[in-house]
Amino acid sequence: MNVIKEKNFSESFQSVLEEISEKCNKCGLCSKDCEFLKFYGLPKDIAGSFDINSKKGCLMPFECSLCNLCSAVCPQGLNPKNMFLGMRRELNRLEKINYNVYSRILNYEKRGISKKYSCYLIPENCNTVFFPGCALSGTRSGKTYDLYERLKKGIPNLGIVLDCCTKPSHDLGRSGFFNEKFGELKSCLVQRGIVEVIVACPNCYKIFSEYGDTIKVKTAYEVIEKNNLSELNNLTGSVNVHDPCGVRFNNKAYNAVRNIIRKSGLTVVETVHCKEKSFCCGEGGSVNYVDNRFGGKWARKIKEEITESKVITYCAGCENFLKPHVPAVHLIDLISEPENLLAGKVKVTRSPFTYLNRLKLKRRLIKNSVPSEISERNNIRSGHKNSKIFTWLRVLISLVLLAVLVSAADPVKIKQSVSGFNGSCLPLVFGLIALSVFISALKWKVLLDAQNNRIGLIRLFRIYVISLFFNNFLPSSIGGDGVRIYLAGKHYNRTSSAAASVVVERAIATISLSLLGLAGFLFSVKPLVIAVWPLTIVLIAGIALTLTLLTGWTPGFIKKRKGRLRDSWVAFSTAAGELKNEQSALLVNLVLSLAFQISVAMVAAAVIRGLGLPVPGMADMFFITSASSVFAMIPAGINGYGLRECAYVILLQPYGFSSSHALTISVLFALFVSIFSLAGGLDWAISKQRDNKSLENSEVTI
Ligand code: SF4
Ligand code: SF4
Repeated sequence: MNVIKEKNFSESFQSVLEEISEKCNKCGLCSKDCEFLKFYGLPKDIAGSFDINSKKGCLMPFECSLCNLCSAVCPQGLNPKNMFLGMRRELNRLEKINYNVYSRILNYEKRGISKKYSCYLIPENCNTVFFPGCALSGTRSGKTYDLYERLKKGIPNLGIVLDCCTKPSHDLGRSGFFNEKFGELKSCLVQRGIVEVIVACPNCYKIFSEYGDTIKVKTAYEVIEKNNLSELNNLTGSVNVHDPCGVRFNNKAYNAVRNIIRKSGLTVVETVHCKEKSFCCGEGGSVNYVDNRFGGKWARKIKEEITESKVITYCAGCENFLKPHVPAVHLIDLISEPENLLAGKVKVTRSPFTYLNRLKLKRRLIKNSVPSEISERNNIRSGHKNSKIFTWLRVLISLVLLAVLVSAADPVKIKQSVSGFNGSCLPLVFGLIALSVFISALKWKVLLDAQNNRIGLIRLFRIYVISLFFNNFLPSSIGGDGVRIYLAGKHYNRTSSAAASVVVERAIATISLSLLGLAGFLFSVKPLVIAVWPLTIVLIAGIALTLTLLTGWTPGFIKKRKGRLRDSWVAFSTAAGELKNEQSALLVNLVLSLAFQISVAMVAAAVIRGLGLPVPGMADMFFITSASSVFAMIPAGINGYGLRECAYVILLQPYGFSSSHALTISVLFALFVSIFSLAGGLDWAISKQRDNKSLENSEVTI
């Protein structure tokens, strides 16, 4: 069978597909116990028929538990799990996944890596840390603390790190996020001289063993057994053991766990599927967030093999997930309170109180440490803090500029002008604003249509009004263009393509803005020559930017990188480059951009008329509004506030406008646009509520 060659697949994923396709002999051993494979077919068939553009192709990989049992039984040494994980990653890379359905698990992960929940306690001369993981710390905070104390008897300088290994994102195919966050965690450890991590959670074990590079990892159970840190006991009875998928193929962990159990006096009775052939508990791969038709069957299979009254596992997630089906208990409970465990009296905290437990554990650890040992996760995104500072700096610049202008003007005159605004001009003002937004939506549609991204004009108009709202009311780094990219990208699941259309459209708009300004200058009655230079520079920059975008250029340093940034840039530049062949669409866009600038000049003229002031000629208005828009582009204020007002005061002066009048015109212009954009804010809020409702009601949203 030939494997599908999809031009969008990454090379690594293509080679995984090809390997399965070539080497799988369809013996069927992997599907014997896997309901997922029984339903979807053998790995070779799946590799040959995987269609990333179909609904089935988008859902199927998220129904595999990623348990790795298939690779444990495959006589060909193949790893079908990697193929399904690869599919998840490809779907993520090509932005075909709606992660809203996973919000609960992703929020859980987000808290785990946050400053509030994470904590690094590294004593002097420490090179090994205990990493208990989120689940154990939440369900058994006291026992986690005791386990740390117990481990310290074997490793005196042992530190402890409360953090999340970000396995949820890893399993959901969010490779970019996972690489960034696990990379942060790794560098936090390496910077502090840590060479070994002792984990209590098998999932953390899996992540550290696969991605920890120089950091060695072993389970806490191996340390306990090797250093004789559990008590000799004389319990009687037999138990089964459930080995979690995270430690599949880890014989040292299997043996350590069994020796600890035996030391307590209990006898281990092995089930048919134990150790490397163990079944998944059903939680793996977050399959239950989309459908539990396969995930739920694992626990039933485990139940069928159980022979004893207790099943000891060493994963807090497995214990929690298996509990409703089999008498599962955690090994830590056996170590800490063996009698209570056998009597069924062990108390375990359940969500949402697990979060409180984690904070309690953190407080207790900090209380019993010296301050020099305590630190937090380094946030590699240090730019985040800087960007906040820059945002506030820009707000400050806008406020200072406005304050200077207001104090230089005559407040009484401003008040008189505003109160004297002719209300009958309001329909004209708002009608012209609506027209300008309509033209904007139309010019954007021309490019989207050229990309074959069909989207209705009304929908685009609404998106534009929403983006206007964000531009006017949120002084953040996420401007209206970001909102447009997000909403249009979500509409047809191609954010890179949406980004290309928005950026190219912006570049062309810069050309038309300066062209109209320069044309206005030529025919203007009282032009201010000094404004010609900024207009010319913006024209040259706009032309250069447009031509560069249309070549589909990718900078060399991005080409050299691997991962999501490179993939996203390549997808973006390819989409932008493809527009080069759509010359008529580009030309229509340029013409419509000119029409948009004309409509903006007409809005300003309507405001001047409303104030009862003499309106300069249309060529003058083109020059004034275009030049002021160019000034407002200077990234020193917020959304151009302050800068635009300064420009109006300077540019309108030759026409006999006082500072007070010029300031009033600019402020009223911005005010009317802001009022108009409130409709976008309302639309956004209503759509958001509707989305949440449909999410609650939908079973599968991928
Ligand atoms: S559910 Fe487990 S056994 Fe089945 S395909 Fe996925 S990883 Fe393999
Ligand atoms: S066990 Fe291996 S060779 Fe057999 S069907 Fe599964 S993947 Fe193919």
